[in-house]
Amino acid sequence: SPVLDVEAIRRDFPILSQEINGKPLVYLDNGASAQKPEMVLDAMDRYYREMHSNVHRGAHTLGDRATTAFEGARETVRSFLNAQSTREIIWTRGTTEAINVVANGLAPRLKEGDEILVSHMEHHANIVPWQMVAERTGAKVIPIQVTPEGELDLESFTSLLNERTRILAITHVSNVLGTINPVRSVIEQAKKLGVLTLVDGAQAVPHFRPDVQELGCDFYAFSSHKLFGPTGIGVLYGRAELLEEMPPYQGGGEMIERVSFERTTWNILPYKFEAGTPPIAEAVGLAAAIDYVEGLGRPAMEAAESALLQRANELVETVPGMEIIGTARQKVPVMSFKIAGLHASDIGTLLDQQGIAIRTGNHCAMPLMDFYGVTGTARASFAVYNTLEEVEKLFQGLQKIQRLLT
Ligand code: PMP
Repeated sequence: SPVLDVEAIRRDFPILSQEINGKPLVYLDNGASAQKPEMVLDAMDRYYREMHSNVHRGAHTLGDRATTAFEGARETVRSFLNAQSTREIIWTRGTTEAINVVANGLAPRLKEGDEILVSHMEHHANIVPWQMVAERTGAKVIPIQVTPEGELDLESFTSLLNERTRILAITHVSNVLGTINPVRSVIEQAKKLGVLTLVDGAQAVPHFRPDVQELGCDFYAFSSHKLFGPTGIGVLYGRAELLEEMPPYQGGGEMIERVSFERTTWNILPYKFEAGTPPIAEAVGLAAAIDYVEGLGRPAMEAAESALLQRANELVETVPGMEIIGTARQKVPVMSFKIAGLHASDIGTLLDQQGIAIRTGNHCAMPLMDFYGVTGTARASFAVYNTLEEVEKLFQGLQKIQRLLT
């Protein structure tokens, strides 16, 4: 199989070639946000220098250029997700807003006693919007259990699924554990009962390409910034017939067909869900990020990433008292851990002094922290530009901290 030239990839990411606290930066906080390749920076720069205007408005050339670039980006996303139509691709601010659009849009279908299934490993973004809609409608949010290894408990899922279940909202990949959930098969089971399904793809898309038609989901959400694209933009994929029925999320310009004080009507898809001036340069940047990642070749990328995780797993025994949280069989290269006698936040601070960036805390997944009986974990999350040497530096760093503090 093809092998990636990681050094060449690193040169595409200008931010990586700097020193932090006098040490070469080792960026292992990709789960929080990934760095941006030159291709993305250039695409956005060029857009602003040569094409910018508002979209869908202008009776002028720049307006046409901006619109072409913007709608071209939508087509790039459609193709990336293998959606049937660009009508099904809605720009949002990110995964969080995408899930809020859906929760708000499905509220009219919910009534007292209806059940919304989520999992115990969800990010708050896939819990709180459902709690808010449950509050409004009398529906209940019910968590599917996870196993101690950090996998979805399929028995729990099967036993919770019933004729009151209206929505299944589940993460494709856990941001804390790295677990890849068997979303295709749980969706298949849920659909037999007419349940609507949403997949939170925030942590999946940086590592593999989802196919929404193959998954069979009704909705799929992700953020650009974790996929090497700019902040401020994300995507909601939704099946057209459902989006048609859903009420808009926000009101304003662009999302209307006709406005009068007597009666206002909505624009066609996808614009019905895109009130106001959209994130145009960001859409262009996201499309460039997708072109970049797909250009690397996913099989080679997945092989390189799994080598990083494997090396990390091998080195765990070199740090006495280190314990991995989340040992699922199917994982992306994310490693949450604790070390006996050390606080996660101290680990983070002391690694930073060595130029190594990781994340510590509850990772916006407090129910999962409660399940594991911790207030937080340390998390190293790897990306395609990380090297085996960097993995080794992380463990040398941890050994050093341990010598220092124990
Ligand atoms: N879901 C998951 C699984 C995530 O990891 C994140 C980001 N940490 C989100 C949702 C929220 O994404 P954003 O903050 O970009 O809206």
